[in-house]
Amino acid sequence: MLRRTHALFAMSVAVFLRLTPSQVVASAFFGIISDMDHTLGLRHRGFTHSLLFAFLGFVATSALFPNLAIPVLTGITTHIFADMLNPEGVELFYPARRNYRILKLRFDSKLGNGLIVALSVFLVVLRLRGYSVDVGMLKAVVNFIHDQALKLGLR
Ligand SMILES: [Zn+2]
Repeated sequence: MLRRTHALFAMSVAVFLRLTPSQVVASAFFGIISDMDHTLGLRHRGFTHSLLFAFLGFVATSALFPNLAIPVLTGITTHIFADMLNPEGVELFYPARRNYRILKLRFDSKLGNGLIVALSVFLVVLRLRGYSVDVGMLKAVVNFIHDQALKLGLR
């Protein structure tokens, strides 16, 4: 999908999860970092588009910058989901090299990007109507990892 679509989608999910305004903005940034694989010389839609990357990113930010942990998870997982709508798919279970996809819509297709924009608007409307998903359990996991990191003297 297009970069702005990824950013919008990550932000709308962050809104739906009742994250803070600064975490919503951070989610937009983390929603586009997966495509830095080009810049870093990594195989496109490989490691940075995998559950392993989402997991490692979540654990690392929980340890060091706990306020960013849920935005990292939100940004990376929404990016992966949106790219799974493309014909190329993503290496979801990297290091296994098999690509997974849900649909075959080109990254720049109006339909694919339109679907994600519509889903984003839908999530924000749901939130405005009082619906949301509580991430209290996830926050508890972040705090646990952060406490362990403090005990280890990581920060
Ligand atoms: Zn991507």
